[in-house]
Amino acid sequence: MMNLSKKIGIVFCFLFAVTLFVGCGGVSGKTFDRYGYFGTLTVFAVYADFSDEEEAKKTEDAIAECEAALEEIDKAIGSAQTSDISRFNAAACGETLEISRITYELLGIAKDMYELTNGAYNPAVGNLVDLWGFSPRFESGDYTPIEPYDRETPSQPEEKYIKAFLSPALLDFGEVALSENEDGFFVTKPNGCVEIEGKIYTVNLNLGGIGKGYAADKCAEILSKRGVTKSYVGVGQSSLSLLEGNEYWRVTLNHPRGRGKYLTVSAANVAASTSGDYERFFIENGKRYCHIIDPKTGRPTSGTAAVSMFGMTAAEGDALTTALMCMSAEDAAKFIREKTSGVKVFMLDEETLTLRTNADKSDYELGDGTITVLNI
Ligand code: ADP
Ligand code: MG
Repeated sequence: MMNLSKKIGIVFCFLFAVTLFVGCGGVSGKTFDRYGYFGTLTVFAVYADFSDEEEAKKTEDAIAECEAALEEIDKAIGSAQTSDISRFNAAACGETLEISRITYELLGIAKDMYELTNGAYNPAVGNLVDLWGFSPRFESGDYTPIEPYDRETPSQPEEKYIKAFLSPALLDFGEVALSENEDGFFVTKPNGCVEIEGKIYTVNLNLGGIGKGYAADKCAEILSKRGVTKSYVGVGQSSLSLLEGNEYWRVTLNHPRGRGKYLTVSAANVAASTSGDYERFFIENGKRYCHIIDPKTGRPTSGTAAVSMFGMTAAEGDALTTALMCMSAEDAAKFIREKTSGVKVFMLDEETLTLRTNADKSDYELGDGTITVLNI
């Protein structure tokens, strides 16, 4: 999977994108930026001979098809009121809704990851994510407080809501039923709900921990099918699907505490995913509260500053890095050993900035000499 001895293709800074190209012959590297899907930036990077009309057109056509796919996925699972996920969240207990094939497929992958991680990855954390102030409505320019628990500034919510939203009636993703017949694809909302001061709360889904990875997989499939194979796609700053580089890609991970680059990994034909406590968070009384919620406690995770993973699909990696953030370092190491194979994981401890990894020394370069490495 990773090979440091081959020729360097490109440097890509993962989480804060910076790219640097090395061309050879008529071949040059070019990036194509597309804004607006999943409220973030999608980057396509391609090596090709763009002076060759046919090759240039092949790239443009492939990217146009990827854009159409991104639009379709965003429409299905994005934050628009008409998306399948928004409709599900607004639906009453027990309601069955028709959904797109995309949402059906993605919820199926989400179910697999929920089971594999024993519920650490749980898209039914929607109410809790909203309670802590990390759902998409807080990011939109026209945010107005609508929930009784909304607060003036980011801060810890009232305990009674955390307790109520931890109710199995709202958190059991296993109870979200998927079905398929000749008429289409369907999802049924569980019957359980919780009432707080006269207001009813039902199961709410949030696919923020898997959707961008899924989109990266779909685009990579399209690029591959159309023969645009010296390429990668990055959706947001944390989901990458790498095809062949100019032999391979160099993926640079930024330090979660702003000390520049901390890790560079050379890789090709693999998905790379990162989750961290430093992209979206607030600090109250000196304590950091990040956007990843541990479904066991109903609170933001702590202990690990960042987890990066190379391997599996981008959707799976997206979900698994989110799940690993919810586990203790020991449980995370056990999970990697027992439940995955062929993946390389890099986990950075929040307090000590110790790097825990199952990768060989030759697979990566450390950019910060103060980091201690622990093999897991
Ligand atoms: P990114 O948004 O950078 O891709 P992640 O993949 O780690 O980061 O996803 C985090 C998002 O997933 C959160 O913003 C939230 O919407 C959702 N989420 C939070 N906690 C969980 C969890 N335990 N399981 C599933 N999704 C979660
Ligand atoms: Mg994730």
